[in-house]
Amino acid sequence: MRKQIAAANWKMNLTLQQSEALMNELLAIPHTLNENQQAVFGVPFPYLINVKNKLSGKKNAFVAAQNCYDKKSGAYTGEVSAEMLKSISVDYVILGHSERREYFNESHAMLAAKVNISLENGLKPIFCCGEALSVREAGNENNFVETQLKESLFHLSAAQMTGFVIAYEPIWAIGTGKTASNEQAQQMHAHIRSVLAKQYGQAIADSISILYGGSVKANNAKEIFAQPDVDGGLVGGASLVAADFAAIINSLK
Ligand code: PEP
Repeated sequence: MRKQIAAANWKMNLTLQQSEALMNELLAIPHTLNENQQAVFGVPFPYLINVKNKLSGKKNAFVAAQNCYDKKSGAYTGEVSAEMLKSISVDYVILGHSERREYFNESHAMLAAKVNISLENGLKPIFCCGEALSVREAGNENNFVETQLKESLFHLSAAQMTGFVIAYEPIWAIGTGKTASNEQAQQMHAHIRSVLAKQYGQAIADSISILYGGSVKANNAKEIFAQPDVDGGLVGGASLVAADFAAIINSLK
C-alpha cells in the first residue's frame, strides 16, 4: 500500500529560534501517524540537524532538504551535495519545486541529474511537477505535466520508481489561496498515475505516492486527501502554523 504523506515546505522562512518554537508547539499537539502515514519536514539547510534531532524517537516523521546540487563535490561555492545531506541523516529531498524551476532556471535535464544523485546517496526525492495558469487555460496541462515526468524521471528503473514520491503542484495554486478543486486535483493525479502505469505498469504506478500542493489548509486538507489518487500534500504557508499543520497531518487517509 502506498504511503500517505503530509510534507511541510517551510521555504526560506523562520529563524532558528522560530523554527524551534514551531517544532516544540507542533510536537506538543496530539497527532497520530499509522504505519502507512508519514510527516515530512522540508526545512532550510541550517535547521536540518536540529529538526532531525527534535524528531528523534518519533515514528514515521522525517526531514527533507528543499534542494541539492546535481554534482558530487568540488568547486561549487554555496551549493550543498546529496552526499552532505545523507551524512547528516536527511531522509528526503524536494526537487523541482516550481520556485526553483522559475527563479533558478532548473531544467528537466538538471532535475534528472539531481534525482539520480539523490537516489545514489540514499535520499528519497519528492519530485514536484505542475503547470502555470496559462498552460491550464490553453488546455495543455496534461501534456505539460507528462513531459515534466518523462524528461526527468523516465530514465529510472522500475525498482527505483517503486514507492517513489511525486508532488503535483499547479503553480496558480501555490501561495495564492486558490486551491485546485477536488475534481481538478483528482483528474490530474489520475492522469499522472496513468502515465506512470503506461511506462512502468499498474503495480508500480499504484505504489507511487502522489501528493497535492497548492494552498492546502487545515480546513480543506481532508476533502482533497480523500480523493482516491491524492496521497497527501506538500504544504507551504500552512506548515508554518503548528495547529494547522497538525490538523493537516490528522487529515491523512
Ligand atoms: C509549496 O510551496 O509547495 C506550496 C504548496 O505552498 P502553499 O501551500 O503556500 O501554496
